Amino acid sequence: MTPSLNFDNRFLRELPGDTDNRQHPRQVIGACWSPVHPTPVASPQLIAYAHEVADALDLDASALAAPELLEALAGNRLLPGMQPYATCYGGHQFGQWAGQLGDGRAIMLGEVLNRSGQRFELQLKGAGPTPYSRRADGRAVLRSSIREFLCSEAMHHLGVPTTRALSLVGTGESVLRDMFYDGNPVAEPGAVVCRVAPSFTRFGHFELLAARGDQALLQRFVDFTITRDFPALQATAEQRIATWFLDICERTAEMVVHWMRVGFVHGVMNTDNMSILGLTIDYGPYGWVDNFDPGWTPNTTDAAGRRYCFGRQPEIARWNLERLTDALSGLLPAPEALQAGLKHYDAVYAQAFNRAFAEKFGFRTWREDDADLLDAAFELMRRAEVDMTLFFCGLAQIDLNDPHIEILQDAFYRDDLRHRFSGEFSRWLKRYAARLQQDAAPVPERIARMQRSNPRFVLRNYLAQQAIEAAEQGDFGPIKQLLEVLRQPYTEQAGRDSFSAKRPDWARHKAGCSMLSCSS
Ligand code: AMP
Ligand code: MG
Repeated sequence: MTPSLNFDNRFLRELPGDTDNRQHPRQVIGACWSPVHPTPVASPQLIAYAHEVADALDLDASALAAPELLEALAGNRLLPGMQPYATCYGGHQFGQWAGQLGDGRAIMLGEVLNRSGQRFELQLKGAGPTPYSRRADGRAVLRSSIREFLCSEAMHHLGVPTTRALSLVGTGESVLRDMFYDGNPVAEPGAVVCRVAPSFTRFGHFELLAARGDQALLQRFVDFTITRDFPALQATAEQRIATWFLDICERTAEMVVHWMRVGFVHGVMNTDNMSILGLTIDYGPYGWVDNFDPGWTPNTTDAAGRRYCFGRQPEIARWNLERLTDALSGLLPAPEALQAGLKHYDAVYAQAFNRAFAEKFGFRTWREDDADLLDAAFELMRRAEVDMTLFFCGLAQIDLNDPHIEILQDAFYRDDLRHRFSGEFSRWLKRYAARLQQDAAPVPERIARMQRSNPRFVLRNYLAQQAIEAAEQGDFGPIKQLLEVLRQPYTEQAGRDSFSAKRPDWARHKAGCSMLSCSS
């Protein structure tokens, strides 16, 4: 039986579309979307589903088993109600205005309304060219698709706002990629991910209309977005846009605090990769901090400038919000009203950051002088090359009467640095123990708080790479095992210690483990 999904395609219905229905690359003016068709692939093969996402879409086991669904998720057929299109957006890339970009390899299938009335856009990534593909092929390689599939689900289970992934499907076709842009293209297996989110709208959607001076369509798109994606927003007509922007600032601040809390580095925070809903979006050359280093960037294209390194993410998110104020200011009689949003970003960021780190350290509340203790920890972790995830897990084991560096034993990557910094760590642990004593929380309560906010299992770069290498040999087992482990990132899992182990030496400088290219 053909699986049934309840489509209600408002984006198409309420916003103007492109009248040209050919797929050649072009500038699309005066429209928010272009009609497109996914390009069928040779032999679709299901690699993995995320059953939680299927549940949210009301897809049951029989629907998931239906060949028609697999074909639809590969781009080989449309299910009733699907109306494929690609959306038009621009963006600032690495600090420069880049003009029109758009969904070059993402094809929207429509908006599903589930039984509880929740709305989800469904989008295939890697399903072939669109008018926004410029000179590229609209396809995605298996390695980057595995990374997107696993990471969006891992982030969700960590409690980080993110787009989701329903499925990962191999295409049975190969894709040519020059991974290090050194003139050596290689044929790699291709794949398609079905991404799911309430909205895939980006800052860049608004920026492009503003850059083209199309104020009427900009106003229409803003009204549409507020109505469809921010139904809870309450404001007078006059204050509507400023209040909306304030909400975007708040969501963005909270998202970035989560990234800093779990050690996630997005890697390409261009404004076209910034979600209006404050969701982590577009998993490309992202990475997870192993040895703590605010200057680390996983993206080889960013290695020289380090614009998108771990420690600069809060500042860059704010810069991106400023670009959104540039785009929106023409719609307001008094554009200064948007400045309140940016101030709100700073305040929410500081507050949420302190709250998150109070929990990570096990404090009931954050005190002003805790910032010194935190800075001292970050500085020591950086100099001694200590693993961020294992450091915070280790802290929960502290004996307040006899704080000992043994609890951090596993977090060091280098013995020489462990010896060199052991005195400083011991002194820091004494300060930390004294601070915990002042908090006077019962020990089990503190430990529970710390375990809730310090993940044991994150998608370490080398773990993803191992799953990729197995998949490229035809073994999809490790993808499923990883997904299973990452479903409960805060819980100790018997027999799965290897998934929480620090990066092995062989992975320190290996491609895919410590550096990622944008080529995907
Ligand atoms: P990204 O760096 O992945 O955020 O992509 C930036 C822009 O390039 C977006 O407009 C993408 O749709 C487009 N793009 C990236 N890869 C491809 C591809 N293989 N085919 C077509 N467009 C692409
Ligand atoms: Mg993108």
